[in-house]
Amino acid sequence: MVANVCVSLTNPSQLSAIDPRCEFIEFRADLFCEGRTPGSWKQELASATHQLANHACANSQKTILTIRTTAEGGKFPDDLKRVELFKSLAPRFDFVDVEYSSKHRAALLANFAKEKKEVILSAHLTEPTIQPVRSPGFRNPKGLGSGVQSPVLQDSRPKTQNPKSEAILKAMHKAAPSAIKKIVFTATKQSDNNVPSKLLALAKKQNIRVICFCMGGKGIASRILAPIDGSYLTFGALDAKSATAPGQLVHSDLLDFYSELDFAAINPNTKFILVIGNPVYHSLSPKMQNFALRKMKLNIQYLKLRADHTQLGDILGMLRGGRFAGANVTVPYKEAVIPSLDSVDPEAKNIGAVNTIVNRKGKLMGYNTDGAIVPILGKTVKLKRARCILLGAGGASRAIVYGLKKAGADVTIINRTLDRAEALARAFGCKSAPLSLESMSRLAAATLFVNTTTIGMHGSPSGSDIPYLPRKFPKGLLVFDVVYTPIDTPLISKAVRECNCITGERMLIAQGVKALELFIGKKVPDEVAVGMHDVLLNYIQ
Ligand code: NAP
Repeated sequence: MVANVCVSLTNPSQLSAIDPRCEFIEFRADLFCEGRTPGSWKQELASATHQLANHACANSQKTILTIRTTAEGGKFPDDLKRVELFKSLAPRFDFVDVEYSSKHRAALLANFAKEKKEVILSAHLTEPTIQPVRSPGFRNPKGLGSGVQSPVLQDSRPKTQNPKSEAILKAMHKAAPSAIKKIVFTATKQSDNNVPSKLLALAKKQNIRVICFCMGGKGIASRILAPIDGSYLTFGALDAKSATAPGQLVHSDLLDFYSELDFAAINPNTKFILVIGNPVYHSLSPKMQNFALRKMKLNIQYLKLRADHTQLGDILGMLRGGRFAGANVTVPYKEAVIPSLDSVDPEAKNIGAVNTIVNRKGKLMGYNTDGAIVPILGKTVKLKRARCILLGAGGASRAIVYGLKKAGADVTIINRTLDRAEALARAFGCKSAPLSLESMSRLAAATLFVNTTTIGMHGSPSGSDIPYLPRKFPKGLLVFDVVYTPIDTPLISKAVRECNCITGERMLIAQGVKALELFIGKKVPDEVAVGMHDVLLNYIQ
């Protein structure tokens, strides 16, 4: 099984930006025509659709033609003229989107049935009152329910949400049995996301192809979960600035999200844990966490989701839903998420950053597990009163400094930009120094040296050699390098020859194991942690 993602386009100039993994392209012809004079758009539209069809054919993608009228929240002026436009453009597309509320629905359906064209029959509704949708881009669809002889849309409120959605589906199925039914509505609260899941389960039982999700920021969960729950497809925006409907996520982010999914193992009770950040496509956390979850036979899947800063609040809101066990948070949101949480663990509060959010019955609890490497360092050297030199004062250093101070170490923070070292040192009661020959000479009498800079990382503009390192490290020194791409950084290679060392992926594992224990509420067995390490090594080298 695959998750079908459809990217919505308003102009063929956007074709080159489509992720090649994307299976469907929707062309919003109404948005293309907007602002063009009728004299010019007909020809331009013909050439645009030609371009689109050629691209899709070359990339084995399927195309959907959608023309929404202003009454439906789109930009095309007239329902009748749309019939003509459909007739001229449809032959170039694999699917056509016919509005259930169109006065000309029956004629269009009959025409497309004759031409054996695949139809998506669409209804845009508001739950639970089935009022006209009023979100931007989907304003005031007056046609909905007015020109349609549908007992369902004119019905007074059903007693529960499910029978109502069922009734809509039933009426649409009666109108066009072979069409794919698309039922979307604007979510006003998180629990609205349960409606598509239930409707999709019902449709699956009856073998009806359905697309169903909620629009709006509160509906993001249903957009993501739709294909998992059996929706024929879900829609994504071309990029963060080009959403054609409220709440749309970027199509390549959806594709990254589904890339880690084990469809065969999913059932209605499956829970999800996310890693959210920006960017996040490179994250190895799904690989190691899914290994652990499978080993422990837990019905949880760990997936990555890039969060645009404009959608961070909605994504955090989504985590309160029952399908999500929580999330790991990575750069650049470890501080930004804090105000949205219901409580923050004292350690994370002291560090000033959260990397783990646990959903406890709809309440979001923040933790920081980044310092979990410190006890591991403490197994090789005694940290109490130990002289520790920490190079770097960025995000990676905070939790380590906090952990070292808590273990009673004597910490000096050295950084290229002295201000940052001073600020960190002030926050945690450490010493600070600028990066210089003099400050680095302190390594001669140190017990622990930690590199938390990007120096040595693949592709880093910082270069690969830490300046002012002593010709030879003292034998009793422990070197820990947070960089793990590559594992054998120049610093580690030197340390292997001259003293003790611990490599950067150990920190990734340590924080991951501790986070997993918070998500699942029990200890991760040692053999599972060892397996996580092996998985990581496979992907890093
Ligand atoms: P960051 O916030 O951008 O901080 C970068 C640090 O590197 C700053 O202190 C910066 O100094 C210093 N730096 C950069 N280029 C330098 C140069 N040419 N000379 C001297 N100092 C230089 O980055 P971060 O989030 O802390 O990440 C740092 C590294 O840790 C990355 O390689 C990341 O992949 C790794 N990391 C590993 C783990 C793990 O689990 N092992 C976890 C998190 C991060 P200035 O202040 O002077 O700019």
